[in-house]
Amino acid sequence: MGLLSFFRRSRRRRILAKQPIPDELWAWAMKEHRIFAGLEEAEREKLRELSTIFLGEKIFDPIGDVELDDELRVSVAAQACLPILGLGIDWYDDWSTLMITPREYGVHTKDYDDSGVVHEYDDEFSGEAFDLGPVALSKVDIEQSGWGDGYNVVIHEMAHKLDGRDGGYDGCPPLHKEMDPEAWRRVFAAAFVDFRARLKSPASRKPRRGKLKKSGAPRIDDYAAEGPDEFFAVMCEYFFERPALLRSEYPEVYSQLLLFFRRDPLGGG
Ligand SMILES: [Zn+2]
Repeated sequence: MGLLSFFRRSRRRRILAKQPIPDELWAWAMKEHRIFAGLEEAEREKLRELSTIFLGEKIFDPIGDVELDDELRVSVAAQACLPILGLGIDWYDDWSTLMITPREYGVHTKDYDDSGVVHEYDDEFSGEAFDLGPVALSKVDIEQSGWGDGYNVVIHEMAHKLDGRDGGYDGCPPLHKEMDPEAWRRVFAAAFVDFRARLKSPASRKPRRGKLKKSGAPRIDDYAAEGPDEFFAVMCEYFFERPALLRSEYPEVYSQLLLFFRRDPLGGG
């Protein structure tokens, strides 16, 4: 064991001993969010441990007049740690701050097209993961996450963090040794092409919230069509929020995510 990992481990032991999540608060978080309903007792214990370390190591930075209470912190921690239940807390060791904004925030964006023409537009973000830096989450969107309806801004941004660990936001996180990168690429590329083809109109930039169409449209948030990185992040949301739906829509994507996350949200550990 290296010195750094020795210190890290003893610091984590201290966090677990001295800053436990109170029983009542944890029980509330598990009951409040439908996405935790299928967890077995041992998984809940593991999730609690990860969430405790997460709360001890990450900095919550409220922006503007946003108020952070213990419920919100634990809610974020538990949802953020669900994807790493089978991976371990070290997968989040390359960043430390969560900026919590009151609501979706507007960003003025400038793009240059191939002919050098500038396009400017106002965009809205419910969350954002910056390279090696903080994660920004809107409180309004956090409160809409975890209900088992497919939308989860916390898991979405954590998925970007996992994706970017190898230096590129390309929809492919660093895969485990036993996984086949070729199979991952083939499965995700095919699903992405299929998804875009199934959308009636070309993907348009729009707010993340309230974007699910009522009928006749794909049953998965069309924000996934934005690019391979967003496709991966949205597939992760559905993997944990609506696993049965994802498995029926894109079974091979489901299988790849199962190999990556090392657990099956539909049961079987
Ligand atoms: Zn995204």
